Amino acid sequence: MKYISTRDKNKTVSGPEAVVEGLSAGDGGLFVPAAFPAIGLRDIAALASRGYAERAAGIVSAFLPELKDSLPAACSAAYSRFDGDPAPLVKIDGNLFMLELFHGPTHAFKDIALTLLPRLLTASKRALGKTEKTLILVATSGDTGKAALEGFAGVPDTDVMVFYPVEGVSYMQKLQMRTTRAKNCSVTGVRGNFDDAQNAVKAVFNDKSIADDLQKLGYKLSSANSINFGRLVPQIVYYFSAYADMLDSNVIEPGDAVNFCVPSGNFGDILAGYYAKRMGLPVGKLICASNKNNVLTDFITTGEYSLKREFYKTSSPSMDILISSNLERLLFELSGRDDKSTAKRMADLKSAGGYRIGDDELKALQADFCAYFADENEVFKAIEDMFDEYGYLPDPHTGVAMAAYNKYVAATGDKTKTVVISTANPYKFTPDVLRALGKKPLVDERKNIERLEELSAMEVPPSLFELFDLPAVHKDIIDKERVAGAVANYVKRK
Ligand SMILES: *Cc1c(COP(=O)(O)O)cnc(C)c1O
Repeated sequence: MKYISTRDKNKTVSGPEAVVEGLSAGDGGLFVPAAFPAIGLRDIAALASRGYAERAAGIVSAFLPELKDSLPAACSAAYSRFDGDPAPLVKIDGNLFMLELFHGPTHAFKDIALTLLPRLLTASKRALGKTEKTLILVATSGDTGKAALEGFAGVPDTDVMVFYPVEGVSYMQKLQMRTTRAKNCSVTGVRGNFDDAQNAVKAVFNDKSIADDLQKLGYKLSSANSINFGRLVPQIVYYFSAYADMLDSNVIEPGDAVNFCVPSGNFGDILAGYYAKRMGLPVGKLICASNKNNVLTDFITTGEYSLKREFYKTSSPSMDILISSNLERLLFELSGRDDKSTAKRMADLKSAGGYRIGDDELKALQADFCAYFADENEVFKAIEDMFDEYGYLPDPHTGVAMAAYNKYVAATGDKTKTVVISTANPYKFTPDVLRALGKKPLVDERKNIERLEELSAMEVPPSLFELFDLPAVHKDIIDKERVAGAVANYVKRK
């Protein structure tokens, strides 16, 4: 299986190379499979009798056949870190199901990919005979950071540097990152928002002189953000897994369409659903849910992507994003895999703050996707309603998805069975969940958590509560201009 760059189709690499490189050096594009592997209905039905790790090994090997032999053990090790089933499907009513992806070590959906990515990376290096050390750079809007730190902690010949926007993450997200103890991990706050942090990290990737300096010290950069194809592959699995579970419980017949409603920021989660559809999974609509930062809603409804808008901090910080990196991969598909047009649009985004796609492309986009957004009041109301009506307590990101799902059903009357992706444990965002339930949070986060536990009778994951007793090891806060320098210094100190 070959991979090509979205900005230069002539640049071809193998899957292991795509995983090791992260971003296509030189043209700055993202790697995508040269063709999507097909998985037929019979194979999908056969997944029903398998556990999650086996499902994952099967689907990941379709994209990374070079790693086939090591995948069963890798998937089994990665998914044994979850508390039970990594992706349980919870039935809410006849048409609505929640796919819970937050039972991993850091209690958000990023764990699905980031428990496996380090193993994919190690196996890829081995397959390529590479012995250099890897420095993983991560820009995080909150959840990716800790998931990457957990995933890569203690991995030999690998270091992780995480950059997070100081004012843009929740109390618990910050606490999770700052209390990381592993020696190969570094965490730095960046003044600004997520886009600032992500742009600073992307600039390091595209800086040849930094790459040369690192090479002299025996390091090569890679990414754990969803710009790395190795992050996306594990995410494709849970779409198949949810469908297989629905077959298994006779909720659907083979071939029935299922909608997925996905709380979206960097567009990696929902793009994996689109890829699953391209591979043959009977997906109806992919409902893209956004918070007040509704750049994706506007794009999907009008075909125009514009950064000329205000940036809002919301109760769903992992979706407070204006530059959705993975949209580049979708643009590539919509344009009929036109690398020149994709490169041009990405350049326009940078220089002019936006672009517009053609009418045919918009039609193709809307055949697969629709989009709704929710403001903070609507998100809080969705959380409260879910809790009151069904006793289900969603986190604010999942609250955004629920609000979008309700709008979708009201607008279309569609009765297709729909899976809403439930992306985080509500205790990571306790103050806002309390507010949604009409309670005033206190300054003391520990007390807030105890209060929410009393109200909801939902168990607090012990690993979250234990963070209060750990020392905050990582306290550095820098300007975004100093990210490149911080990377250079970190390596020199090693
Ligand atoms: C990252 C994240 C999202 C958004 O996923 P994208 O792949 O960035 O679109 C939604 N919810 C939570 C809790 C997240 O951590």
